[in-house]
Amino acid sequence: MIPVEKNKEYTVTIENISSDGNGIAHIDGFAVFVPQTAAGDTAEILIVKVLKRFAYGKLLKIITPSPLRCESDCAHYKRCGGCQLRHIKYDAQLEIKKDIIENAMRRIGAFEDFALDGITGMDKPERYRNKMVFPIGRADGKNVCGFYAQRSHSIIPLTDCAIGDEINGRITGAVLEYMNENGVSAYDESSHTGVIRRVFTRKSFCSGEIMVVISANARKLPKREKLIAKLRNISDKIVSVILNINMKRNNLVITDENVTLWGADRISDTLCGIKFMISPQSFFQINPVQTEKLYQKALEYAEIDNGMSVMDIYCGIGTISLCAAKLAKRVIGVEIVAKAIADAKENAENNGIQNAEFYADSAGNLVPRLIARGETPDIVILDPPRKGSDDATLAAIVKAMPKRIVYVSCNPSTLARDARCLADNGYTIEKSQAFDLFPHTMHVETVLLMSRADNGSVEKA
Ligand code: SAH
Repeated sequence: MIPVEKNKEYTVTIENISSDGNGIAHIDGFAVFVPQTAAGDTAEILIVKVLKRFAYGKLLKIITPSPLRCESDCAHYKRCGGCQLRHIKYDAQLEIKKDIIENAMRRIGAFEDFALDGITGMDKPERYRNKMVFPIGRADGKNVCGFYAQRSHSIIPLTDCAIGDEINGRITGAVLEYMNENGVSAYDESSHTGVIRRVFTRKSFCSGEIMVVISANARKLPKREKLIAKLRNISDKIVSVILNINMKRNNLVITDENVTLWGADRISDTLCGIKFMISPQSFFQINPVQTEKLYQKALEYAEIDNGMSVMDIYCGIGTISLCAAKLAKRVIGVEIVAKAIADAKENAENNGIQNAEFYADSAGNLVPRLIARGETPDIVILDPPRKGSDDATLAAIVKAMPKRIVYVSCNPSTLARDARCLADNGYTIEKSQAFDLFPHTMHVETVLLMSRADNGSVEKA
């Protein structure tokens, strides 16, 4: 018997926070997830969805607030789906993320006593994002630009987002003005009609340069010179205006088809003293202040010397690889996106780095082949996407018997799973540190150092 009913109100006490940011309460032993609550809140909630093993509730009223609560300083927070923890004090947010990582390592990874060495938060956890994506659509008969509401595709109009740069509000305002003045329509998902889908901005924190990408269901923008003039009028830091063409019925944020409407094709940013050229579709960490700290920790853990070879798997545009190349004898970068590998090669050349090689293919195909052809990396760094690594890649790493493996992860669950696989094959966890690259959201990065437990006597798998 399920002890809760849809559309009924209950009083609950929140016990904890789930890995997707919901408060967890129990009603007669049955788990209920309630967004925008904090451990220690007593609250009135409305049950909005009942599933077999748990239900979702909506916060109606706080009866006793948790001591972890703070006033959210974002006017849009209650409706916007972008942040999940803005109602919780920043120090407590860091504790929540630390617990989530430690629980995943203990429960999924079976590392019973696992404890992080620490979590590094931001000194000023605001306006940290160098990239923003604003969907455009129609609401109440008007073109609107803003953010998707929680778990929906309805757009909340907003001009400023507290984790992005203030200039974004002026950029999105200029795009709406251009649309309204020139009769350029907003894209409509359900009928697959209309033109402008999104505005996407990237900012270099080092140079201040800004790229504006307009995603459109069109090969040409009507009266594009009017849009360019409006954008150029905002700031001379806007150095690149790109049209990203997406004529298909899908929800891709960005496709590979870019046309430069004005200015540069790419912007540059500097991380750890190395200059990177960034294309509209390149992966580049969104919080450069924290990224430098994360990469420095990864390199510190790696203890690279100039006689060593390093393999950087899931290397993107070569960010970690090129930092490592300055310390190592040789670096091999592996990445699935061919364009990112082309950028990585060019970034190496632009920075005068000659001891880094880059290969484009999936890690699962490439790493076993590289190892089979005789590569013997002393150090392996891996920084996979949320789904983690895979059996073929991990088996090949183990076969190569590197001294140290530095795993950079954006998802504690897959980190725990993969670390368990490495531990079962002779590697021991030495050190670990989390970095908050995404304040006010549930996301967190972890760096884990694993070493060969027995200094090389493990049999090759
Ligand atoms: N280390 C880089 C990128 C990390 S993001 C940085 O810090 O900037 C993860 C990267 O893995 C992305 O660039 C993504 O394109 C790549 N990727 C995803 N699946 C992959 C696979 N199966 N094989 C190799 N690379 C993959």
